[in-house]
Amino acid sequence: MLKIGSHVSFAEKGLAGSVEEALSYGSSTFMIYTGAPQNTRRKPLEEMFVDEGRKLMAEHGIGEIVVHAPYIINLGSHKKDTFELAVRFLQEEVRRTQRLGVKNIVLHPGAYTEMDPEYGINRIAEGLNEVLDGTADTDVSIALETMAGKGTEMGRTFEELARIIEKVRRNDRLTVCMDTCHLHDAGYDVVNDFDGVLQAFDRVIGLERLAVVHINDSKNERGAAKDRHAPVGSGWIGFEAIRNVVHNEALKDKPFILETPWIGKVKGKERPMYEAEIALLRGDAAQRFGPEFLDHVERLHHFFDKEGIEPRGYVLKTWEALKSDAKARKADPREPMERLYDMIVENRVLPGEFTEEALNHRLTAWFAGKEWLRSA
Ligand code: FE
Ligand code: FE
Ligand code: ZN
Repeated sequence: MLKIGSHVSFAEKGLAGSVEEALSYGSSTFMIYTGAPQNTRRKPLEEMFVDEGRKLMAEHGIGEIVVHAPYIINLGSHKKDTFELAVRFLQEEVRRTQRLGVKNIVLHPGAYTEMDPEYGINRIAEGLNEVLDGTADTDVSIALETMAGKGTEMGRTFEELARIIEKVRRNDRLTVCMDTCHLHDAGYDVVNDFDGVLQAFDRVIGLERLAVVHINDSKNERGAAKDRHAPVGSGWIGFEAIRNVVHNEALKDKPFILETPWIGKVKGKERPMYEAEIALLRGDAAQRFGPEFLDHVERLHHFFDKEGIEPRGYVLKTWEALKSDAKARKADPREPMERLYDMIVENRVLPGEFTEEALNHRLTAWFAGKEWLRSA
C-alpha cells in the first residue's frame, strides 16, 4: 500500500490526536514534531497519549510514521553554546523518537553561518558522531534532509550529504530524506528528469539510504535556493511531476509526507489541501469525494477552457510575472491559486455555496488536469 500523508499536529492530543488528524485526510502515514519546531520546550511523553495513538494506528493499518527534529538545532554552528545545545537536544529527540516507536527522525543538517562549507561539513559530522555515540542504545536513524541551499544551509547537493555521511563513524544509522521542493530549489530537475535525479542520488549516496520523501510544490523556479513550499499543482513543479515521484518504482514503500502550506484569505482560518492532495496523488479522489466533486471539477475545466486558461501554463505564467515584473507584482500580489479561486467566485462557476477549503480542493483537482478527470 502506498504510504502517503502529511505533517500533523502532536500538540493537541499527542499521538492519538496526530493519528486522528492524519485519518481525517485519508493518510496512511504522517509526520510529527515532538513539540514546537522553534524551541526546545517539550512536554513529557507520558502526557502525549502514545499508547492510545499506537493502538489507533494499528487499528487503521498505519505502520511507519516519521518524526522531524526542530529547526533550532544547528549542528553546523561554530558557536559553542549553539552546537552543544544542538547535540544535547538532538540526543533527547532521538530518545523520544525511539519511545514513540519511530524509526527515522528527519534533520536539517545545519548551516555554517560565518564559517565556510568545508567547516560546515566537518562540524556537522562531529555533531552527528556525538549524537549517534550518545544514543547507541537506540535503533533510531537520523534522516538528513536534502536542502534548498538557502543562506548557508548545508545539504543542497548529494555530494555534501555524502561527505558528511562518510565522516560519521556509526553511519549505518544515517539515512536521507528527499524533499521535492528543496531538490528543485537546489537545482535538481525534478520536473523533466526525476529518474536522472535518482540516478545521481544512487551514484553519490546510494538509494538504500533513502528513508523518507517530502512532497511539496515550489513557489520558485528551479535553482532559486529559496525554500518556499506551495500546494501540489500550484507551483513550479506541478502535479504531473509530483505524481511521478510518488509512483516512482525506485521509491516504492517509502513514506511520502506533504508539508504544503495551509491556505485561506483570513489569517488563522487557513486550511490544508492535504485531503485533496493525498486522494489525487493516490488516485482515489473519485471514491473519496464522490461524483458531485467530479462534476464540479469538470465545470472548472469548462469555465477555464472558455477563458483560455490551462492549469500548468497559467500557474507558470503567473509565477513568472510575479518574479520578473515588480510593478505588476505590486499592483496584484496574489499568487496563482488565489487568482484562480477569485475567478471562480466572481464568475459563480460552481452551483451553491462552498467553503473556501472545499472550493480550493476542487481547484487542486483541476490542477491534476483533464487526463486525471477522464481516468477518475
Ligand atoms: Fe524539513
Ligand atoms: Fe521538508
Ligand atoms: Zn522546506
